[in-house]
Amino acid sequence: MRKTVDVLGIPVDAVTMKEAVEIVGRFIEEGGTHAIYTPNAEIIMQAQRDPELKEILKQADILTADGAGVVLASRMLGNELPEKVSGIDLVQEVFRKYAKNGLRCYLFGARPGVAEEAAVNIIKDHPGIVIAGCRNGYFTDDENDGIVADINRASPDILLVALGAPKQEKWIHSNLDRLNAKVCIGVGGTLDVLSGRVPLAPEFLRKNGLEWLYRLCREPRRAGRMLDLPRFLLRVCHARLRSGKAGRKRG
Ligand code: UDP
Repeated sequence: MRKTVDVLGIPVDAVTMKEAVEIVGRFIEEGGTHAIYTPNAEIIMQAQRDPELKEILKQADILTADGAGVVLASRMLGNELPEKVSGIDLVQEVFRKYAKNGLRCYLFGARPGVAEEAAVNIIKDHPGIVIAGCRNGYFTDDENDGIVADINRASPDILLVALGAPKQEKWIHSNLDRLNAKVCIGVGGTLDVLSGRVPLAPEFLRKNGLEWLYRLCREPRRAGRMLDLPRFLLRVCHARLRSGKAGRKRG
């Protein structure tokens, strides 16, 4: 049974990193296809405005909290998530744990050449992993069937889909039924980081929930999107006040 925490209508799984990695292992053993998304505050705010995205997130096999903002929100709402399980960290932990089993991965997304560079680093860091295929994330609708066919030929255990949100969630959802990939994960900018082209935020910022600040300095054009962070926290405060009032009325 899944234990989830409702964060503005999105049922985020209350799992630790260790548990999430075990769940991925179980999905691989089970066969079939599974969808994993890692919503952060920005994605949860996008889902408030986009009912299709909200429905897609709700239909995931597991949703993990990507970011201190989501964990903080769960605490404010009185039902705390155990920890942040971001996409990039989850992927690294899955590689660490299952590389020795000959885990097959397909890397889909990012600009031309990035997935291939990421593949070289993944194989170097995690001997045992098989990179079953790579494909950049820029394509037309006409090319989509060919991409699905290439992924299916590669038959990966893990398909990393790095198209940015909400494109990757929508792509996974609309292709899931015809994909021959056991676990599909939407991973945003993970391939850029694994390729070495984009540095990860320094550890002390990551630990203190200040990754957004680092990102804002590196990519000031994201400032508009990032306004969703304070909007998210305001909405959570509002939800908290409303549930407090409802509780008092009932009590
Ligand atoms: N990207 C892509 N295809 C697109 C748009 C974006 O492959 O049509 C890639 C882009 O090159 C980058 C990633 O998606 O590698 C987006 O990363 P970002 O960290 O911005 O993800 P987000 O925060 O939007 O989830």
